[in-house]
Amino acid sequence: MKALFLSAMLALAIPAAKIAAQEEGEKDVITFEVGDFLVSTLPEGQQRGKSDVLIGATPDMLKKHLPEGTYPSAVNAFLVRTPDQTVLVDAGFGRKLFANLQSLGVSAEQVNAILLTHMHGDHIGGLLLNGKVAFPNATLYIAQAEHDYWASDEAMQAVPENRRGGFGQARRVIAAYRDKLRLFTPGEATGTSAPGLLPGFWGVAAYGHTPGHTAYLLQSAGSRLLIWGDLAHAMSIQMPCPEVAVTYDVDAKAAVKSRQHLLEYAAKNKIPVGGMHIAHPSIGNVKVSGKGGYEFEEFCTCLGL
Ligand SMILES: [Zn+2]
Repeated sequence: MKALFLSAMLALAIPAAKIAAQEEGEKDVITFEVGDFLVSTLPEGQQRGKSDVLIGATPDMLKKHLPEGTYPSAVNAFLVRTPDQTVLVDAGFGRKLFANLQSLGVSAEQVNAILLTHMHGDHIGGLLLNGKVAFPNATLYIAQAEHDYWASDEAMQAVPENRRGGFGQARRVIAAYRDKLRLFTPGEATGTSAPGLLPGFWGVAAYGHTPGHTAYLLQSAGSRLLIWGDLAHAMSIQMPCPEVAVTYDVDAKAAVKSRQHLLEYAAKNKIPVGGMHIAHPSIGNVKVSGKGGYEFEEFCTCLGL
């Protein structure tokens, strides 16, 4: 039964023998193949979120899906090694990032592209070291709408004063990487291949959490993976009830719409997903569970990872 489950699950994209965990620390890097690409999770930390950040969760939903009032969460970045490129997708807080890269034998100098899902501090914290560019050879890809939001004085004035610090951090990153910036407009998720940003990488519009929030679809040798950034923060409740938003969403309504759209897309096309706030192992499959809801089937649990 176990073997059957494993082969059925991994047939989607990730052969069983190709998953390996680095033996260091509690929740460590997981590396797996997506076609010719080698993808690694870069966990920065695991934690539990509290239900008071949720918007639109009814008492019934909370009772059913969050009986303890908390949910498992994490902060992750991802590394994708292709035959020609070493690509970072987000940079986390920068707490364990460099140790995780080192455990894979990857130096900061080797990273030649960084794709940002958005510019919150837990995604761009690792981009600067002592105020300087931490990845000197990398081109930094940011959606145009995301860049424009953080660069806008009007947008900054519109948020409460105690939440304006994020604008300063985003602007410092933009200034430090100004000669290496590549602004682009993400596309729609249609399931067809597109020219993309880099060979095998396609930016998918997932606006709402932030105005330019972008997911990345990886495609290689017939396999795919959707790295969805902050499409969900509280998996325990946002999978069965995608209409629940969080207080960190800049536009909660648009975030819900993007979540519903991409969950449907991933489930329908059987595309495995990875997320920046999905607790370890942070990758898995999305499946329809009826009544507009979804369930998340983690990879690797059957391997004891
Ligand atoms: Zn965020």
